[in-house]
Amino acid sequence: MMLDTGTLRVASGVVTLTLLLLFYFITFRHTRSAYSAWWCAALVLFLTGSAAYLLDGTVHQVWANPLGNSVLVTGAASVWAGARSLRTARPRAWQLGAGPAITVAASVVDDPASNDWSGGPVFLALMGLMIALASRELWLLKPGYSRVQRPMAAASGLLAAYYFGRWAAFMAEGPHGPVFVAYFGSPPTALATTALLVVVSFSMAVLSNEQQTHDLRTRATYDGLTGLLNRTAFLHLALNELLRLRRTKTTASLILADLDHFKTVNDEYGHAAGDTALQAFAAACTGSARSTDLIGRYGGEEFILLLPGADPHRAGQIAAEISRLLLASQDPGGPRLPTVSYGISSSGPGRADLQGMISTADAALYQAKSLGRNRVVLASALPHETPS
Ligand code: GH3
Ligand code: MG
Ligand code: MG
Repeated sequence: MMLDTGTLRVASGVVTLTLLLLFYFITFRHTRSAYSAWWCAALVLFLTGSAAYLLDGTVHQVWANPLGNSVLVTGAASVWAGARSLRTARPRAWQLGAGPAITVAASVVDDPASNDWSGGPVFLALMGLMIALASRELWLLKPGYSRVQRPMAAASGLLAAYYFGRWAAFMAEGPHGPVFVAYFGSPPTALATTALLVVVSFSMAVLSNEQQTHDLRTRATYDGLTGLLNRTAFLHLALNELLRLRRTKTTASLILADLDHFKTVNDEYGHAAGDTALQAFAAACTGSARSTDLIGRYGGEEFILLLPGADPHRAGQIAAEISRLLLASQDPGGPRLPTVSYGISSSGPGRADLQGMISTADAALYQAKSLGRNRVVLASALPHETPS
């Protein structure tokens, strides 16, 4: 069956336009992520570049053919920029502009009025190069970044190989040679690129979905101001951890911390200074605790830490270390950082009970406040402990 170039270009254009509209309205408008913006740009450029070729054979070919080549290379550069945005910063303008500029120059000097393959070798080589670079960016993503990173890397790698094949056949026998016409001419290319555009658009939509789910999960787990676990996530994780500690008959301590006269920090220096103090306290907690400890923001200016394996004495040392780090982070010219009161409860080996530990620590914290604040009180008796 002979597939004619014009019909295939129109069909491929319709599919690309449909993909662009679906991708723009369903994915891009919800995420506004850099890679989906680059992918929209790439689809627009592929559409425009292919449309320019429809003027081949007319008097407009002289400008439309070089334009089509350079717009398609810009589209390939956008694919690379989109893949790169998943990994690192934005590309530089020259990295995006160099390929299209070289393509235009090569096409203009190659008799574009009568040669509908003007600048062909340069165009094919640069298309292959940009798409290969996009594939490289996707391979360089850390493993587990997304379910679709490997399929996308493979798809773009295949397309790059196809373009290098086109380039090699073009160099060997020109655009009218039998191999080039059979495997690498415009009709097979339109089919191959349309199929790949569908694969990549679908993968991008999946990627977008994954990232939204990840963002939602992060927001549901962490406190936005301090980056610590939020109350719900802390309680959930602490409960699981205590169950594990009960099985392994390990001790644990729990610290409740409350910033002293925090309201006056807000009143004297403003709410933003209060926020900074909360962040400084969170940093002091993460700087003092071990990676196995759980740290959460329990409420406004109250914090909670679960220290598996720590006895009350060790927990007291950690509380003192937190206050020391907080004091050390005081900016001499900045707003005063508050002192902190701590209540500590501990459980015997295999006897941990979260609610019991929290209320005991709360009673100790209350005592620390009554005794004048800026101190650590260890709860000695643990009436809430349940036997294992
Ligand atoms: P005490 O020593 O008895 O704990 O006194 P306090 O002033 O620390 O306690 P109080 O409960 O009277 O005030 C807590 C203040 O914490 C009131 C509230 O506006 C402030 N606060 C709670 N959450 C935030 C926050 O996210 N940012 C800021 N800047 N302030 C907060
Ligand atoms: Mg409080
Ligand atoms: Mg307070």
